[in-house]
Amino acid sequence: MSILPQHKYLTRSLTHVPKYHQSCLRRLVICSATTATTKSSTKPTQLVNEPRLVNPPALVSPIAPPFLNDPSLQSTWSHRLWVATGCTTVLISLAKAIVAAADSHVWLQPILAGYIGYILADLGSGVYHWGIDNYGDASTPIFGGQIEAFQGHHKWPWTITRRQFANNLHALARAVTFCVLPIDLACNDPTIHAFVGVCSGCIMFSQQFHAWAHGTKSKLPPLVVALQDAGLLVSRAQHAAHHRPPYNNNYCIVSGIWNKLLDKQKTFEALEMILYFQLGVRPRSWSEPTSDWTEEVEAPAQVTVQ
Ligand SMILES: [Zn+2]
Ligand SMILES: [Zn+2]
Repeated sequence: MSILPQHKYLTRSLTHVPKYHQSCLRRLVICSATTATTKSSTKPTQLVNEPRLVNPPALVSPIAPPFLNDPSLQSTWSHRLWVATGCTTVLISLAKAIVAAADSHVWLQPILAGYIGYILADLGSGVYHWGIDNYGDASTPIFGGQIEAFQGHHKWPWTITRRQFANNLHALARAVTFCVLPIDLACNDPTIHAFVGVCSGCIMFSQQFHAWAHGTKSKLPPLVVALQDAGLLVSRAQHAAHHRPPYNNNYCIVSGIWNKLLDKQKTFEALEMILYFQLGVRPRSWSEPTSDWTEEVEAPAQVTVQ
């Protein structure tokens, strides 16, 4: 059974409750107040103070569905700046790899390192996606925004195709900037830069590959469809399985090359067991498919004409 917000925060001050749960609690407070007022009409001087659980009117979704031209799907100048910074740091790394390889006439090692970077980026995207899909909530430090966005994505997968480019990439671009910039400044090794440039670039663009995996074939650029069909980018069919029960597979979103192996070996399930027995934390995917995971049908008012 999942823990409802009103149970989880029953003993906590409203100021400590994540923003998206507060509206639900306020409704409960209003419901309780209404009930108390009715009771107090018989005994006006007696304050009713008995704890009671009030069933919310048809459980309110913790995250409101985006609407047409929702600002949460639009890019801001801050988003664009972070994506530009992330792209610049990645391009500097790739340029340094090429220049250093040309100077030393050693190409094989940087090319192999770049290939390994591409393969490991897919694994990294899967581990990160699994982590934020299953643990934490909107109030989690650093990752809260991403966790909330991914939970919203499970409920309304179509939103990723309406999310603007920089809005979709800025969080990973910021992380890439902080990790790659020091390497750009401190290192001139072509092999290291080939690995770092390709790996960080693929991780930063993994959300774009993810968005393309939700695209309609006829609306995607032919090159993207060709790369998806060749298995170089995560395919639409493979990622569609992630959004179907039991909602605990196909987490990798760069090429998807690791998905089959990780799912066959039940790697993430093993990690979930380890975390549960070590820390007592249950992943979201263990719950019966709840409203957190199940997709809501797109309402006519939310449909954008493209
Ligand atoms: Zn997911
Ligand atoms: Zn998705």
